[in-house]
Amino acid sequence: MHIFVTGGAGYIGSICSEELLNAGHEVTIFDNLTEGHRKALDSRATFVEGDLADREKIIGAVATAKPAAIMHFAANALVGESMTNPSKYFRNNVAAGINLLDAAVEAGVKKFIFSSTCATYGTPERVPIDERLPQHPINPYGLSKLMFEQILDWYDKIHGLVNVKLRYFNAAGASEQFGEDHRIETHLIPNIIKVALGQREKAEIYGDKYATPDGTCIRDYIHILDLAAAHMLALKAEKSEAYNLGCGEGFSVRQVIDIVQKVSGVPIPVEVKPPRAGDPPRLISGSHKIMTQLGWKPRFPRLLPIIESAWAWHQKHPNGYGD
Ligand code: UDP
Repeated sequence: MHIFVTGGAGYIGSICSEELLNAGHEVTIFDNLTEGHRKALDSRATFVEGDLADREKIIGAVATAKPAAIMHFAANALVGESMTNPSKYFRNNVAAGINLLDAAVEAGVKKFIFSSTCATYGTPERVPIDERLPQHPINPYGLSKLMFEQILDWYDKIHGLVNVKLRYFNAAGASEQFGEDHRIETHLIPNIIKVALGQREKAEIYGDKYATPDGTCIRDYIHILDLAAAHMLALKAEKSEAYNLGCGEGFSVRQVIDIVQKVSGVPIPVEVKPPRAGDPPRLISGSHKIMTQLGWKPRFPRLLPIIESAWAWHQKHPNGYGD
């Protein structure tokens, strides 16, 4: 199939593109390279440099590619930043995304796979979180993704554009070739790895007074290759659905630091900082639905190999993509 991938130069989009190409699909990547990197573009893909806010450009690019499906990764995805700059989140994740939906309808695209997030649930009333729990986001990032989910359902009802909403928990790890490199790194695992590489002095823990066993926030980490596999399975979905995507096990910030320490063999000094605004204490996925309906099963359900793959990539690329 020909798949049109937005954000294919970013962390998740680059590895999903790589896996699509490995599986024999044709890929066109559309990316503005603000968050993504030219070196993260798979050389087998066709690349169009552009911004989703440029309506003519995206309509033209989708019309030229005439893809069977669109995978929409391009977005801003930082909880903390969304609490200080909500405008960026609503403009890029909602308003600019509508240009892509219109481009899909004009070009007669039948399927749309959307990178959504567990942040749409806010602070859930229980974990594991299944798809029937109410979505009450507690930060603009989560709300921007929920708004786009709702818009997608109207595009299905009115235009017959089938959507699959994949609500990611915490993507982590790397493939052989591509990994996680943000110009300003805020994510937990790469930040701790930077300490192990001697690039940062200490790991920071954002709050240790949460109602969790060790007081630090709990997240469910999923290997990026398992996440990519779910996108491949989503191509087969025949009707619009939402699926949670995580491994079903939660790890606290302190536990993640311990595992990086074990994998790297480097002691990691830590400093406890104030909590980060907009952070729910505990997010763990109930992924039964995607397992039963699409046959997804994680190849890397444990955190150790996930962190090993991230560590291997960062050791090979201590300065990331170097741009
Ligand atoms: N976190 C932390 N120190 C860091 C980065 C993150 O304590 O240097 C915490 C953050 O507050 C959250 C968890 O680690 O509870 C995961 O954060 P990340 O930014 O990796 O992903 P998010 O869950 O926000 O998408």
